[in-house]
Amino acid sequence: SKTQNSFCYYSNKDNGSCYKNLPSIELENDLYMAIENNELAMFYQPQVDCENETIVGFEALMRWFHPKFGLVSPSVFIAIAEKNGLINELGRWGLQQTCKDALYFEEKCAEPMKFSFNISAKQIHQSNFIDETLSIVNSFDLKENSIELEITESSVMHNLNAVSYFLMELRKSNISIAIDDFGSGFSSLSYLQNLFVDTLKLDRSFISNADLNKKKRTIFTAIQSMAHSLNVDLVIEGVENFSQKQYLKDLGLDSIIQGYYYSKPMSLEDLEKSLFLKYSLQF
Ligand code: C2E
Ligand code: MG
Ligand code: MG
Ligand code: MG
Repeated sequence: SKTQNSFCYYSNKDNGSCYKNLPSIELENDLYMAIENNELAMFYQPQVDCENETIVGFEALMRWFHPKFGLVSPSVFIAIAEKNGLINELGRWGLQQTCKDALYFEEKCAEPMKFSFNISAKQIHQSNFIDETLSIVNSFDLKENSIELEITESSVMHNLNAVSYFLMELRKSNISIAIDDFGSGFSSLSYLQNLFVDTLKLDRSFISNADLNKKKRTIFTAIQSMAHSLNVDLVIEGVENFSQKQYLKDLGLDSIIQGYYYSKPMSLEDLEKSLFLKYSLQF
């Protein structure tokens, strides 16, 4: 619907540029009540297999519908929550909602779908983070590996010891792990040898910056072959138009594509409707 699109439009303004002048103290105060007041929602963005153009999963992205300011971008309110510690509560709520929606999907849809949820580095430092995460996921009767946790490459690099331990523990329990914004920091690739990772999500700057010239082609194919030899899935983020998608297909990549070209993040309700229309999955 029209309203939905305009929500998405605002939420996707980079760095919440529309919201620069929002009073952060007021936002912070209101964020304490956001869960209780039912102002948060999880939206889902499809991830599409490049080869056969079928949906293989979704990234869960949090949305805050503020009663006065309208939609506030997660790049604004997650940063606030990381500073004041509310991120732990938002994280629990969001993961729970994601599992609930994943289960709903699993019951309706014949294809297995992976639901991917973002974890902030701050959450990992919480002493009971692993237990809490496992108890949330295990309280839903989901198929193995239907939940994936995303952690950004920069938080991995800054917390290597804590992160390796936590990835190992989570993976024992059949939770998948993705490295988000891969390639965005100037980090050493050597950490990949020792980490238990299922998916690399290539930062969207790769596809969006500069033109897609020959040098670029070499980078994409090199990253793809590295993903192959590490035996991890590759998700390419930020594919916005047909020519970018076609460029990747012409390279012969067998990766997964996530971007506005296929879909913006949507509410569960809209997702269900649009999947039914576009892909005629069995609902
Ligand atoms: P991210 O995890 O890298 O998520 C991808 C972001 O790129 C999302 O922005 C998504 O809407 C946007 N995006 C997807 N396709 C395209 C495209 O084709 N072009 C462009 N320009 N953008 C695209 P969103 O939803 O505003 O989220 C921003 C960031 O906020 C996320 O980046 C993530 O770091 C954080 N975030 C969102 N939800 C959560 C959450 O539940 N928990 C935590 N800890 N962080 C979250
Ligand atoms: Mg992410
Ligand atoms: Mg990302
Ligand atoms: Mg990001």
